[in-house]
Amino acid sequence: MKNGRVIKVSGPLVEAEGMEEASVFDVVRVSNERLIGEIIEMRGDIASIQVYEETAGIGPGDPVYLTGAPLSVELGPGLLEMMFDGIQRPLESIRAAAGDFLTRGVEIPSLDRKRKWHFTPTVAVGDQVSRGDIIGIVQETPVIIHKIMVPQGVSGTVTFIEEGEFTVSDDICILDGCKPIQMLQKWPVRKIRGYERKLNPTEPLLTGQRVIDTFFPVAKGGTAAIPGPFGSGKTVVQHQLAKWADAEIVVYVGCGERGNEMTDVLKEFPEIIDPATGHSLMKRTVLIANTSNMPVAAREASIYTGITIAEYYRDMGYSVALMADSTSRWAEALREMSGRLEEMPGDEGFPAYLSSRIAEFYERAGKVICYGKDKREGALTIIGAVSPPGGDFSEPVTQATLRIVKVFWGLDYALSYARHFPAVNWLNSYSLYQSKMDQWMDTYVDPRFSEYRKQAMRLLQDEGKLQEIARLVGRDSLTESDQLKLECAKSIREDFLQQNAFHDEDTFCSYEKQFKLLKIILEFYYHGTAALKSGVYLEEIERLPVREKIARAKFIPDDQMETFDKIGEEIVSSISGLIDKVGVRNA
Ligand code: ADP
Ligand code: MG
Repeated sequence: MKNGRVIKVSGPLVEAEGMEEASVFDVVRVSNERLIGEIIEMRGDIASIQVYEETAGIGPGDPVYLTGAPLSVELGPGLLEMMFDGIQRPLESIRAAAGDFLTRGVEIPSLDRKRKWHFTPTVAVGDQVSRGDIIGIVQETPVIIHKIMVPQGVSGTVTFIEEGEFTVSDDICILDGCKPIQMLQKWPVRKIRGYERKLNPTEPLLTGQRVIDTFFPVAKGGTAAIPGPFGSGKTVVQHQLAKWADAEIVVYVGCGERGNEMTDVLKEFPEIIDPATGHSLMKRTVLIANTSNMPVAAREASIYTGITIAEYYRDMGYSVALMADSTSRWAEALREMSGRLEEMPGDEGFPAYLSSRIAEFYERAGKVICYGKDKREGALTIIGAVSPPGGDFSEPVTQATLRIVKVFWGLDYALSYARHFPAVNWLNSYSLYQSKMDQWMDTYVDPRFSEYRKQAMRLLQDEGKLQEIARLVGRDSLTESDQLKLECAKSIREDFLQQNAFHDEDTFCSYEKQFKLLKIILEFYYHGTAALKSGVYLEEIERLPVREKIARAKFIPDDQMETFDKIGEEIVSSISGLIDKVGVRNA
């Protein structure tokens, strides 16, 4: 192909002429340093190229090499446990090759070409296969079996397939009349990977975070956004989900946030043992790290690279969760590029296509029937953090996100300031999966789960109104039963909603424990209310020592669930003791 020539450089945006053979979204290599860029606009023979590497020193006259291919990722065994940059370069190998600083134009394959994998065929010579059919498996990590699928657009009768040790680029299977199949496949990142059909999500993604699982659940295959001001706990929540969510595969995209956060992840994740498998969390995790010192354009690539890898594992029939922290940094990159292209700005300078880009991203989530004869089901859940400047949720990125996602966990500055974590505001957050998830919880956790959840939410809502009245006329002028209500709402906030991510026991809470914990808090309220009616004084109820036990119940280990029942019994016996005393008093 004919080369182009740089005519203008403006930060990450390069304009080149003589590009008539190229098309939008093709990858090009800029200058003799071969910087990686992607064409984002074509006008005649002039291409606007966003460059994913630092453009200092590049100038007019430098050559632009066409590749004729769109920005693609490599898919195959060896993705798990890896940490890639936004354009899927393995960070460790780059460091090894170039020292601590990313040098430009480094060409390192995303997947190791030398490593051999043990491939076990699951089809035989003579079998008829087509797109999405699984032809063999590789034990990628001790916990994940990598399924090798027939690439899209390929079908035929197997004429050769063999068990053995192969690299990702070795031929492992031949179909009649087709090119040989390798384990390695490439996929253009901006193109959604297809599936047979979409299903309605029915099952919650267990996160072990009480405010999420009990009050604002996200479904497997669903979408959630977590907006919040700086320091309100977005990253901590995203890390918690990456660690504890019951997804089989986790793809974590660190997009433009502070660099040391990704270092934390790198240090922490390998050390955490997944209780479900007994192995390190990294055995099922792929990290994409695009720290704030990398050029802005790479942020966009990191989002697409992450989602494509996530779709690929979904296609194998896995439940995959993708976390992106933060999608605002990506949106800001879009704004910057759009500004440099001198496009007509929309709201607050963001391009007019902001909403559609965000929507296209979240639409890649879903529970689906994958391609392939076995009609396997896969799910891809997307959870995006949003960082609105000043915590103002009316800004364009938050608004565009809320129009598309089904779950909203709104983080609140006041709550985080008061050190109430996770700082999810229970009065304005919501989950549109709630009624579906209620059915699941009532079936598989406890038939009263959704009932308790609703009662607890009612107490929290009433608390808001009562506090208002108390502010005006003083707490003492509330009835005793309203005062007890306030006490119990406080208990829901402090003993249930607050959850310390850094406490060994509290960091994860099973569904069963969430239910039992909420149950004792509500039982105390009901028995207390009944006692007030029988003439017991509020003070007496408030002084009961069992309250201390309720407050500490979240730290009860999972193998001591019977302790909850004992607390339940103590609530009943100690309150009936108070009622008996009233009888004595009145006699
Ligand atoms: P953001 O990403 O929104 O800027 P972070 O996630 O970095 O905020 O959180 C800021 C700080 O808040 C954390 O360093 C931690 O001290 C505290 N924090 C947030 N969530 C929790 C939590 N669930 N438990 C304990 N501390 C938390
Ligand atoms: Mg953060």
